Amino acid sequence: MSDSSEQLMIPVTHGCVEKPVLKQRGQQEVFCGLTGIMWLHRKIQDAFFLIVGSRTCAHLMQSAAGVMIFAEPRFGTAIMEERDLAGLADMNDELDAVVNKLLERRPEIRLLFLVGSCPSEVIKLDLSRAAERLALCHSPQVRVLNYSGSGIETTFTQGEDACLAALVPSLPSEPDNAPKSLLVVGALADVVEDQFARLFEQLGITHTRFLPARLADDMPPVGTQTHFLLAQPFLTDTARALEERGAQYIPAGFPLGAEGTADWLRAAADCFDVTEATFEDVISAPRKRARRAIQQYSEKLSDKRVFFFPDSQLEIPLSRFLGKELGMRTIEVGTPYLNKRLMAAELAQLPDDVTISEGQDVDKQLDRCRDSQPDIAVCGLGLANPLEVEGITTKWSIELVFTPIQGFEQAGDLAELFARPLNRRTRLEV
Ligand code: SF4
Repeated sequence: MSDSSEQLMIPVTHGCVEKPVLKQRGQQEVFCGLTGIMWLHRKIQDAFFLIVGSRTCAHLMQSAAGVMIFAEPRFGTAIMEERDLAGLADMNDELDAVVNKLLERRPEIRLLFLVGSCPSEVIKLDLSRAAERLALCHSPQVRVLNYSGSGIETTFTQGEDACLAALVPSLPSEPDNAPKSLLVVGALADVVEDQFARLFEQLGITHTRFLPARLADDMPPVGTQTHFLLAQPFLTDTARALEERGAQYIPAGFPLGAEGTADWLRAAADCFDVTEATFEDVISAPRKRARRAIQQYSEKLSDKRVFFFPDSQLEIPLSRFLGKELGMRTIEVGTPYLNKRLMAAELAQLPDDVTISEGQDVDKQLDRCRDSQPDIAVCGLGLANPLEVEGITTKWSIELVFTPIQGFEQAGDLAELFARPLNRRTRLEV
């Protein structure tokens, strides 16, 4: 955007490799953290997400939710009017009235999130105090927590991070003498979660739990015997909150693709002293299926050049998957934020000629994309149409968050998500 934007090359160190990172600060093209409610409300089946925001926030949710609006939704917006914003009304009284009415009408709700937005942050409405106050009135029937989904300096997957980080302090305590347990962290589609649960059980890791759980009363305990494995790469604050509760981080990449999933499972297996023979016995058949499913797309995708705009924070693991398992070549991999610790295993697998960029200065990045003429650009919705008009094939990054892509059984679907836009372009050119 402006000339004042920063472009710095700073080194990122992992193992013995040091790679430069292009740091950018300028105009960004990303959705806000409210978007996370789209998948979180489906995951936690007795939670309600009450956004304290403006009509803009309500419209965003309504258009993003699409058809889901016809069911009894488990999210809504307490709309702040002009007189609220001008400080002419007592927002706390109004919020209490909205919450009381909601909980009276929806007795099945066991967990209520008050979700902050740009407007509520601008007027400095203290939602943590509001959550404490409302929790006193509605406990133990309903737990009330708060987090921010605001779009000020954040990207859309941070909504999940903020939500899970808010949950962590309320998790039950696991005693120090409890058996060693595995906690898989990050919202996964139920079908994927079930597959992983079966694999961990077959590996003999019997105390395995998932965060978030599907029901508010089933949230996992946490303590010094908890070893956690991240299933999503955007959970910086959640990881920190778990470590503050004594849990131990299992360093690993992310379960995308046949090899990515195998490496991720191996990190857990090593932590729980699973023998190599058992590990191979359990994973060899599903890994073979995954390799075969990916293979179908390798001819189409091999040597294709890909450019990632920063959006979902899945970009680095996706770039690793496309490069190592499909032979694609990443020109630039942009990520909104780079957590070098959580991303170390992924960064170590990127080739040296990939440009890694953090943050965004969208005009300059668009120029780099045009100059490099990739076969496919992975980007947010706002950039997709302009790039398509210029003849650059695109993949919407948000689709990669909404689609189950983790694990062996989804590896072929993940490869297909990249093959499909290229097939479409080929058909259009015929
Ligand atoms: S939270 Fe902010 S960015 Fe998100 S819809 Fe509301 S006003 Fe827009």
